[in-house]
Parts: sequence; C-alpha cells; structure tokens
Amino acid sequence: MSNNTKGRLVVVSGPSGVGKGTVLEYVLKRDDFVYSVSATTRKPRDIDEDGVTYFFKQREEFEAMIAGGELIEYAEYNGNYYGTPKFFVEKMLSEGKNVILEIEVKGAMQIKKLVPDAVFVFIAPESRKVLEDRLRGRGTEEESVIANRLAIAEREIKCCLMYDYIVINRQGGAENCAEDIVSAVRAENFRPVNMYGSVEEFFN
Ligand code: 5GP
Repeated sequence: MSNNTKGRLVVVSGPSGVGKGTVLEYVLKRDDFVYSVSATTRKPRDIDEDGVTYFFKQREEFEAMIAGGELIEYAEYNGNYYGTPKFFVEKMLSEGKNVILEIEVKGAMQIKKLVPDAVFVFIAPESRKVLEDRLRGRGTEEESVIANRLAIAEREIKCCLMYDYIVINRQGGAENCAEDIVSAVRAENFRPVNMYGSVEEFFN
C-alpha cells in the first residue's frame, strides 16, 4: 500500500533566533500542514498564548504527563522541560495532515528512533553574525541567557548532518525557506519505499 494517504511527521529544528516561527507560519498556510503545540515548563513570554504557542505547565504537571505516557518525546532545554503531546499528533496523522514538530535536537533524535519515516529538516542561519544579532534584537532575554543560547546554537548546528534536509533562512527569505521545507516533505513521498505500492502490480 502506498503511504500517501497518511500524513507525515515533519520534525523541524534550528537554533534559537533562526526565525523558525516566521518560516513555519508560511508553511502552515498550506491546508495539509498543522502545527503540534508542545507542553513546556518555561515561563510564558509576551508573545506567548497558552494553548496556542505552548501548553504551559508546572514541573509536577509535566512530570505527570511523562509518567502517564502522554508525550511522544521530551527533553530538558535551558533548565526547562519541553515535550510533544501524543494525542493531537496521532489524530492529525490519521486525518492525512503533515504534522510539524518544532523541537530541539535531543527530542528530534528520540523521534528518529521511534518514527523512521518522519522527515527531519534543520533550519540554519545565514551566518553566525546574523544569528547573534537576532538573539540580541529580541530584547526578551538577559545577556547570560543569550550567551547560553549561542553556545547551545553552536552545538545544535553541529548536529545538522543528522537531519534529512538542511534549509537556510536568509534575511528576508522566510517564505523561500518555507517553500524549501514543503518541497522536502513532498519529495519524501516519492521515495521508492513510499511509492512501491503504486507500481507493485507490475511485479505480480
Ligand atoms: P523556546 O523556549 O525558545 O520557545 O524554545 C526553546 C527550544 O525548545 C527550541 O529549540 C524549540 O525548538 C524547543 N522545543 C519546543 N517544543 C519542544 C518539544 O515539544 N520538544 C522538544 N524536545 N523541544 C521543543
């Protein structure tokens, strides 16, 4: 059977400040893509809305979700828990949607073991300078937090070779970057492992 009727899990990572949010807004304009809202124990920022950007949880609540098997994956990042609730992802995949998980590298590697046919996309910045300027420009974090995020960013960028695709978010190029992601997901459907069902009868 061809896998084309079922949605695909799309794991997107990239360092803090690379502009994942804007790029994904463009991807999500397509009807067949939906965003998986993560749970986290980090404090909401001004732009955050509970249930929209994240489900904000206390540590004990999050740990209860882990214990109850409610998360597909989770990781600690910068002192806070982040995780992907299972229910929504499974429902959307069964309805044929491509589900975007915007998660950090450790969580992505957990998904790689669990869901081999997921597609893994890494969004990289144009340069170190652009990333640093963006992290500062946000103005939402203290200097020590920025330094910590830059160190994490360096480590994360080193992991980009573990992904199936690397796309660059150039300045002013978020829409193009989104198109690259959509192309990567569509291309995945044409791999022999996913198309074999459509040509199988020739061999019978
Ligand atoms: P932020 O606090 O800036 O919103 O996110 C910090 C990091 O956590 C980002 O790299 C983001 O991709 C990652 N993240 C967000 N949700 C999840 C999740 O559900 N699981 C994992 N493993 N990482 C997540």
